[in-house]
Amino acid sequence: MKTEIRTISEESLREAKKIISAGGVVAFHTETVYGLGANAFDDSAVESVFALKGRPADNPLIAHVHAGYDLSRLIDFDPPYAARLREAFLPGPLTMVYPSVGKVSRYVSCGLTTLAIRIPSSPAAQAFLRAVDLPIAAPSANVSKHVSPVTAEHVYDDFNGKIPLILDGGECAGGIESTVLDCTGEVPQILREGLVTRAMIAEVAGDCGVYRMKSGEKPKSPGMAYRHYSPRCGTAYCYTAEEARRVYLEEEARGGRPRILCDGACARELNGLNVLCLGETGEEMARRLYSLLRRGEKEATLLIGVIPRETEGVMAGVLNRMKRAFGVE
Ligand code: AMP
Ligand code: MG
Repeated sequence: MKTEIRTISEESLREAKKIISAGGVVAFHTETVYGLGANAFDDSAVESVFALKGRPADNPLIAHVHAGYDLSRLIDFDPPYAARLREAFLPGPLTMVYPSVGKVSRYVSCGLTTLAIRIPSSPAAQAFLRAVDLPIAAPSANVSKHVSPVTAEHVYDDFNGKIPLILDGGECAGGIESTVLDCTGEVPQILREGLVTRAMIAEVAGDCGVYRMKSGEKPKSPGMAYRHYSPRCGTAYCYTAEEARRVYLEEEARGGRPRILCDGACARELNGLNVLCLGETGEEMARRLYSLLRRGEKEATLLIGVIPRETEGVMAGVLNRMKRAFGVE
């Protein structure tokens, strides 16, 4: 199969609609990462998304809809805070989990009675979702466990020859996946941290919890249990610039090509070494993280991640992705 990368136009949207109606899969730009989308009502189309990615069968997908879509067709309970959150943050990088009316394919939520819905703000995503006018079940458009894609080329690297169309909307401005928020209880609870932070949600909803999986417990958000975002090269992690320098020099002495992935302050301490600098703010680090992980796996024999200390705001999401990319327990 030939894989085409096309920007948004009347023709490419017509093509996307044709593929989706026939049960096929289309990759599309969003403001967080690229998605791999199929008609959420179509069992076999949804199954093929799992097969293409090699995604575990218990890791549910998010249903993406355009801003004008009538959500009552998909969900049947709506706590008052949910309406306020939609008003404040949608369209945008916030996925909300509701009790499902069970209309979409049972493969979307992997047997859970809930449905995760996202309304992306990227104009390319909105154009695609409006053109198909269907809920599109979509995980990130990477092979399972690999680094998530933030450019059409990243999607192409993972799925060339396997999908017909990538709708190119440029580089994703957000850079890490949406915040996933459980809206089935009295108080909303973050299942996955992202660009919409706990403080932002609490300000609108009055309160906001963060779900932490206890060891041995069945996870509330199944995908969170897996190692993910892994670069395909040797990896190591540490917490200080000094440690990173030592591991770097050891790898160099072995004849390897080390690279260090770290924030701006750490990069300045490591002046002279080959460093992939994530930047200064949480937002900047989120935007660069996956591109640099993908660049690192191409250049390095050993990619050394320096795990940041900061845990607040957007950094909570960046830290979560970095820990899982480098296998930090
Ligand atoms: P991905 O699209 O690859 O970023 O993965 C979507 C993530 O959303 C999954 O890994 C789950 O953690 C979460 N998710 C999707 N649907 C649900 C749901 N119904 N309940 C809880 N979490 C969900
Ligand atoms: Mg993913």
